[in-house]
Amino acid sequence: MTDCLASLTDERDDLRRSGRLRPLAVLESPQDAEVVIEGRRLINLSSNNYLGLTTHPKLIAAAVDAARTWGAGAGAVRTIAGTQALHEELERRLADFKGTEAALTLQSGYAANLGVLGTVLGEADAVVSDELNHASIIDGIRLTKAARYRFRHRDLDDLEAQLGAARRDGRRRVLVVTDGVFSMDGDIAPLPGLVERAEAAGAAVMVDDAHASGVLGRHGRGTVDHFGLHGRVLIQVGTLSKAIGVLGGYVAAPLAVRELLIHAARPFLFSTSHPPAVVAACLAALEVLETEPDRQDRLWANTRRFKAGLEALGFDCGQSETPITPVIVGSADRAMALADALRARGVFAQGIGFPTVPRDRGRVRTIVSASHTDAQLDRALGAFAAAGQALGLRGSASAVRP
Ligand SMILES: *Cc1c(COP(=O)(O)O)cnc(C)c1O
Repeated sequence: MTDCLASLTDERDDLRRSGRLRPLAVLESPQDAEVVIEGRRLINLSSNNYLGLTTHPKLIAAAVDAARTWGAGAGAVRTIAGTQALHEELERRLADFKGTEAALTLQSGYAANLGVLGTVLGEADAVVSDELNHASIIDGIRLTKAARYRFRHRDLDDLEAQLGAARRDGRRRVLVVTDGVFSMDGDIAPLPGLVERAEAAGAAVMVDDAHASGVLGRHGRGTVDHFGLHGRVLIQVGTLSKAIGVLGGYVAAPLAVRELLIHAARPFLFSTSHPPAVVAACLAALEVLETEPDRQDRLWANTRRFKAGLEALGFDCGQSETPITPVIVGSADRAMALADALRARGVFAQGIGFPTVPRDRGRVRTIVSASHTDAQLDRALGAFAAAGQALGLRGSASAVRP
């Protein structure tokens, strides 16, 4: 016991010395455009609360009402006694939203990826995955016995080569998997070309739209809708934890896939379902997406304003095409120093370094939301200007576009 604890303590101390053990930021306020941390009010550029729904009165009222009517917890896994009428109603609404025959919710986006990949991929199958896909996709693939092929990020020629390799190996099912929007760079998957290459090779496509749902497509329907690819993507994974503002994940797909998941997806089978308050808040959020489309417009207006401001300051914002805008500064140390300098100037934005991103691509990642005001965004840009200057980032070769 003591040997084990001593070795764990050493490991922790090594991480702390190298500066990779960052303390958790503890919010003393709701998740909103501004948050309170250590008693200070900060402009929040760190949240996935794209549409500002975490504090929407309709979601809160729906959660409170559902807890009163349906109770605080679900009490069992879905396949035993943990399916309430609300769960099925949400799934019908999600299928409508995504334009699919059926949908199934799981506890989180993470659980959805583990569940769907573990169900769809067996030993006889192959998966072809973008190298920058989210950790939950990587973990989901690791739990299968399928043959694995990885293609270079958004590289359709490499995708085609990997599809050829999968086909030569004689696989039963081949599944191409990609994030819809990539979480560290804010770039969008080249879905039309990807679907074409997959179809030509007889492969199916799965898109994880965690960062695209509520953001891209009509009323936030995601990348499949954004590109007009309905019926050509077999599986759409989504999360209810980001733009939807609550918690959960789902798989939108043909009915056969839903029924297989109910039978075989391990997080679905062996972990308790959502409390009624969560489900009811998600239903209210889907309603708000339809009735308040101005939130999506505001999100994009804020995105354009903020991105243009950062670029005018000379920062390198990479390939971002969405509300996720990285400010790439080089080493992890520089990224953390910029995040600290921003925090001192009233802005909460996370520094991200290796191994989450390549060693020389450390960054502060920013996400604006529909609920930021112009004044808040301008104040945040002012903080970036001052922090960049204080750290000598602006004007230095690696921080500025060539
Ligand atoms: C955030 C994210 C997830 C996980 O979703 P949770 O609901 O937070 O578990 C899955 N996939 C991608 C691409 C994500 O960005």
